[in-house]
Amino acid sequence: MLQIQDIRKKYVTGDLVQTALDGVSLTLRDNEFVAILGPSGSGKTTLLNVIGGLDRYDSGDLVINGISTKNYTDRDWDSYRNHTIGFVFQSYNLIPHQTVLANVELALTISGISHAERKRRAVEALNQVGLGDQIHKRPSQMSGGQMQRVAIARALVNNPDILLADEPTGALDSETSLQVMELLKEVSKDRLVVMVTHNPELAEEYANRIVRVKDGQIVGDTNPCLPVTDEEPPQHKNMGRSSMSYFTALVLSFNNLLTKKGRTILTAFAGSIGIIGIALILSLSTGFQRYIDQIQEDTLSNYPLSIQSESADMDAALSAFSSLMASGDENSEGNVAEQQMITQMFAQVGSNDLGAFKKHLDENMETIEENINSIHYGYGIKPRIYAADTSKKIVQVNPGVLFGDLTGSSMMSSYMDSDVFQQMVDAPELIQAQYEVIEGRWPEKYDEMILVLSDPYSMTDYMSYTLGIRDADELKGMVEQVMKGEEPEIDMEPMSWTYEQLMALDFRLVSTSDIYKHNKQYDVWEDMSGNKPYMRKLIEEGEKLKIVGIVCPKDGATGTMLMPGVAYTSALTDHVIETAEDKEIVKAQLKDRGKDVFTGSEFGAEEDEKELDFEDMITVDEEQLKNAFGGIDESIVGSVVERYMTEIAESFMLDPTGPQNDFLDVFKRLANEMLTQYITAHADPETGEAEISTENAETIAAEYL
Ligand code: ADP
Ligand code: MG
Repeated sequence: MLQIQDIRKKYVTGDLVQTALDGVSLTLRDNEFVAILGPSGSGKTTLLNVIGGLDRYDSGDLVINGISTKNYTDRDWDSYRNHTIGFVFQSYNLIPHQTVLANVELALTISGISHAERKRRAVEALNQVGLGDQIHKRPSQMSGGQMQRVAIARALVNNPDILLADEPTGALDSETSLQVMELLKEVSKDRLVVMVTHNPELAEEYANRIVRVKDGQIVGDTNPCLPVTDEEPPQHKNMGRSSMSYFTALVLSFNNLLTKKGRTILTAFAGSIGIIGIALILSLSTGFQRYIDQIQEDTLSNYPLSIQSESADMDAALSAFSSLMASGDENSEGNVAEQQMITQMFAQVGSNDLGAFKKHLDENMETIEENINSIHYGYGIKPRIYAADTSKKIVQVNPGVLFGDLTGSSMMSSYMDSDVFQQMVDAPELIQAQYEVIEGRWPEKYDEMILVLSDPYSMTDYMSYTLGIRDADELKGMVEQVMKGEEPEIDMEPMSWTYEQLMALDFRLVSTSDIYKHNKQYDVWEDMSGNKPYMRKLIEEGEKLKIVGIVCPKDGATGTMLMPGVAYTSALTDHVIETAEDKEIVKAQLKDRGKDVFTGSEFGAEEDEKELDFEDMITVDEEQLKNAFGGIDESIVGSVVERYMTEIAESFMLDPTGPQNDFLDVFKRLANEMLTQYITAHADPETGEAEISTENAETIAAEYL
């Protein structure tokens, strides 16, 4: 039972004093669905926050199961909020880039239970709200009603005794509102549900008790519950794991707040009500600046602030869009005007002057430093890394090509960042506070990397494929079968490796500049990445990148900045930039900035971009050619040459030493094929001969090439 006894609460802002609660007394049963109705500003939210321990009362008492909260410590309030209360807000407060499952699981990290158990309980809660089949969606892919149900699942996952909902249907249409109300009613069967709403009809229909609030006072109650006087006098007991004296609790609570566990609890809580709320709640509940800093650090490790050179102002785009929706002109009947929706959207894309911003940061570092942990500059550079062993095949491990390879589409891979290689932020203390070394040591030089595991005993097969220690062709086979609608054969045995084997993984750094080879004749740079012998040699001669350690998150680490995979230091990126400066292709491009070194023509001159003239590149001896075709009509030879020249020349350039590149042989073969086909189709049945002349040469070529 929850007893609210003459609670008063004022907000003081400057000279202004707002009385939010003015002597509220209310007793709530363990098992009922209470709706709080009242005009805006009447104190409904404040009342709910006081009940939930999110906000403190100035005077009066909140008596929980016969125990006064007057002497509650911060630890007691934390424990009460985490174990007894579930919150649902009007605006859902889901974390957009995490899955529904992760959003619900997040609320559970507080209990320090195993991951499998966490998942089981989150799935159970999602089943309860009817979303068991949508757990891998992201909030953005759901309707408002579904998002609110996720929020309810999140509130229920700790199986709280009390569920508090602040205008949960405020942002929903009436039909989805009904679904959410049904759900809350169901939930209220075995707990107390207190819901603030604007909507009297919903309250009448679903709640079994309606409490009306006006100007911070209760002005109506349809089903009052008289406070029963307990036989035993109320006693204060601490709500933590063990009960202890008030004094011990007081001493311990301060220390506890500074422990990992205490922080984990609050970070998870802060995460579940939205990041903006962190500072507010913490300053309310503790007031310790250092402590707030720590929570912010933990949270920002998971959700760092990032600034991009191009960005779209989504708010502005949305408001531009909604003003458009309203702008249909009814006066011009019979006339359909175009609304510039897409154009407006693009108009909101802005670019940030990152150069100037970096200069500002560099110049004012002294004052900025105290507010940041670390600044990480990205230059859009991904070191090009290959598996050293090229004997079977060439495996590029970074930037990852697995997805593109699998689906045969670079579209897919551009949407899904499949890289398992990542650059660590330049804040070793921060990372080392979150991760422990289970083998080896942290990297110190540019050519040293660490393997990041999510736990010391396993890694995903996805990682084995992307690191090249399993052959991605196995995977391709499966994907092809699935695409064809067949049942994929999965007969792969799970593998395992020793730390020693993982540390011995051999990767090679290849400078992207070296992949281009200078063509002296045309003064252009050719992409050699498809030329296997060339690439093998390059990889063999590439710089060796060593794995010097294996790390995994410390037990109970709240922030985890690294993804499972391989992490390198910013020194590697710097090294890539520095070595690129000395490359001939880079120098050539810098020397003549107007001319594209890949095509030899001016930048921007799209239309007349010079196609490589392959015919010029292979000198054809006419006499030789005639002999090859054995006196066939010249115009046919001409057509054949023209048709196949480009193709042959391209394969010739990719692999000049390849056996298929004796072009005269190729011509002969093609011409023979073509003529055999023609003759078979057009031969005179009597003589077995077919006429080939200048007149029909074009037709033959068109038909059979
Ligand atoms: P309701 O939820 O019924 O709309 P609230 O509980 O949010 O009402 O607010 C009650 C009163 O307290 C209002 O006058 C509001 O302006 C004031 N109030 C609420 N929160 C704050 C705050 N953090 N600071 C100052 N005044 C506040
Ligand atoms: Mg409110």
